[in-house]
Parts: sequence; C-alpha cells; structure tokens
Amino acid sequence: MFDNLSGRLATVVKTLRGHARLTEDNIKDAMREVRMALLEADVALPVVKTFIDHVRQRAIGEEVMGSLTPGQAVIGVVHDELKKLMGEQNDALNLAAVPPAIVLMAGLQGAGKTTTTGKLAKRLKEEQRKKVMVVSCDVYRPAAIEQLKTLAGQIGVEWFASDPSQAPVDIAVAALDYAKRHFFDVLIVDTAGRLAIDEAMMAEIKALHARLNPIETLFVVDAMQGQDAVNTAKAFNETLPLTGVILTKMDGDARGGAALSVRHVTGKPIKFIGVGEKVGGLEPFHPERMASRILG
Ligand code: GDP
Repeated sequence: MFDNLSGRLATVVKTLRGHARLTEDNIKDAMREVRMALLEADVALPVVKTFIDHVRQRAIGEEVMGSLTPGQAVIGVVHDELKKLMGEQNDALNLAAVPPAIVLMAGLQGAGKTTTTGKLAKRLKEEQRKKVMVVSCDVYRPAAIEQLKTLAGQIGVEWFASDPSQAPVDIAVAALDYAKRHFFDVLIVDTAGRLAIDEAMMAEIKALHARLNPIETLFVVDAMQGQDAVNTAKAFNETLPLTGVILTKMDGDARGGAALSVRHVTGKPIKFIGVGEKVGGLEPFHPERMASRILG
C-alpha cells in the first residue's frame, strides 16, 4: 500500500532538501513530480488538481520562501495538505441514538460488507462493551446469511435469523423489534450487494434506510478498486445519505488513490479501514498517521 507513491515522494523530498534556497522553478518541478506520483497512485484527477493548487499557493508564499529550511517547509505543507484531503482527524462512529443504534452497511458484492459487519460488531463488543446484534438482509444469497451467522458465532454476538422468503425491509423490522425488546445497544444491518449499481438495488437499500432511519449509513468499498471505488462511493452518496466510508483491503497492494480521493469526492469521512481477512482486521482511520505513512 502506498509503496510506489511513497517512493516517488521520497525522491521529491530529497531533491527539495538539497536546495538551500528554493526558486519558483524548483517548486514548479517538484509539483510536477508530485502530480505524476498522485496520478500514478490512482488519485482522482479533480483531487490531484485541488491538492497541487493548494500546495503550490502555500509553497510560493512567505511560509515556505521565508523559511530557513524551505525544502523542509514544502514537505510540511505537503503533509498538512494530505492530512486535510483525508479529513484532518478520525471521525468516530456515532452511536448517539435511542438504543438500539442502527448501523446500515451498504456496498457492492465482494467489497467486504459481511466481513466488515463482523469486524465492527467485534470492536463494539470488545472495546465499547456494547450488546450487539447483527442481521443480514441479503435474501438473494443464503450463503451470505450463513457467512454472517458463522462470523457472529466466532465473535460471540447475537445473530438474528433472517427468513429469506421475507422482503429485506420486513427482515430488518423484525430484527429491530427483537433488538428493542431485548435491550440491544447496537443493531448492524448487512445488506445485499450487486456486482454493479442497478436501480433495483438502490431502491431496496433506500427503502431499508427510510424504514430504519439509521444513525450510521456506512459505505463499504474495496480500496483495490482505485478510481472505481471512488466513483461507486459517489453514486451511492448521491442516492443515500451516507455518514461514512469504510475502505477495505488496505492490506493489499492498492495504490492508495481511493484513500486520498474518497473524502474530497463524497464529502464523507473514512471512518475505518479493513486491514486483513480476519475479524480483528479493522482499524479507525487516522488521516494524520496516513499522511505520515505516505511521506515515509
Ligand atoms: P461482501 O460481498 O461485500 O459481503 O464481501 P465479503 O465480506 O464476503 O468479502 C469478500 C472477500 O473480501 C472475502 O474473501 C473477505 O475475506 C475479503 N476481505 C474483506 N475485507 C478484507 C480486508 O480488509 N482485507 C483483505 N485482505 N480481505 C478482505
């Protein structure tokens, strides 16, 4: 993850540090390199443009030119702008609702929704001592319902037995009713995913959202999909009032573009990242740490 981007930025950093004084030409060259590095990392073009504009404006300003170590100062600006791009600080999960707090999981098939539902349930149970129930509304894939059952058993959280002959909204309502009666703190609702966005899928998840009125609507997306991840996030965000994004498979060799673009394109924070197939592989997303990691 980010290996190539980090490598390319390290070269820019080295060049900048080598100058006792910077000229506008030095900065122009450096910005050209940064731009190439970001495009190669699959960062969305409008994001690259905005980012470079911000860095350039600050780099030719007093903050950098008047600094005793201008090379270092430009790097500070790049770090700062990377952090800003990703949202400054971690946005925690919001569970401030009359219990049970409902978390609706959305995304395409294979994004990692079901796995992430389990991971999230585990975190909430172990770190926040919440009484958690999970339910699957994927009536099209009984295997997905079973997968969630297995995960819930592994983690030790309650699994609501969905009846695939029922409509997804009816399953969710039955689960909610049960969760209320048994004083659950959190209900995580896993939903069906399709291979591509289609109207039926969107209508179904919109209906679920309208009926459940969840405090969190999280879009789960595979970081390895690069620009496509960002485009799907944008499409979902236009249909559903998302409250956050979870980027999965950040342990893989994704080039990193999705992590850098999603916030800017959707305006929604990345709340967590998936870093492995196991149930422990979910971490809160920290823009500051990610920016430092990118700059090496
Ligand atoms: P869903 O169709 O969206 O519910 O996706 P699944 O939860 O079934 O996940 C699809 C595949 O991605 C499975 O093989 C998961 O083990 C894998 N997966 C999910 N999240 C991660 C992650 O963060 N890292 C890695 N390496 N694999 C993941």
